[in-house]
Amino acid sequence: MPYDRNRNRSRDGKMAPKRPIGAGLQTLRKRLCRFCESGIHYVDYKDEKLIGRFLTERGKIIPRRISGTCAKHQRQLVLAIKRARHLAMLPYVQEVPQ
Ligand SMILES: [Zn+2]
Repeated sequence: MPYDRNRNRSRDGKMAPKRPIGAGLQTLRKRLCRFCESGIHYVDYKDEKLIGRFLTERGKIIPRRISGTCAKHQRQLVLAIKRARHLAMLPYVQEVPQ
């Protein structure tokens, strides 16, 4: 296929608007792990106030790439959340008010 110099152009000849790469992600999070920052070595399943902040309003666990938690602490966090759910301290699913 020959090089088409108009391939990125829309019908009126202007360049299609292009988002800079990674623009959304960088504004969303700062690279930090809250557990590392506050020097927590063990994520306690009984600390529902702390753990509950890593759940969405639907009750899902917020992924690492959003919350900025490091791999080590995310593993501990997930285990703690699951334990807390089993003890009915945290929800498995939650209704979202309309
Ligand atoms: Zn960490």
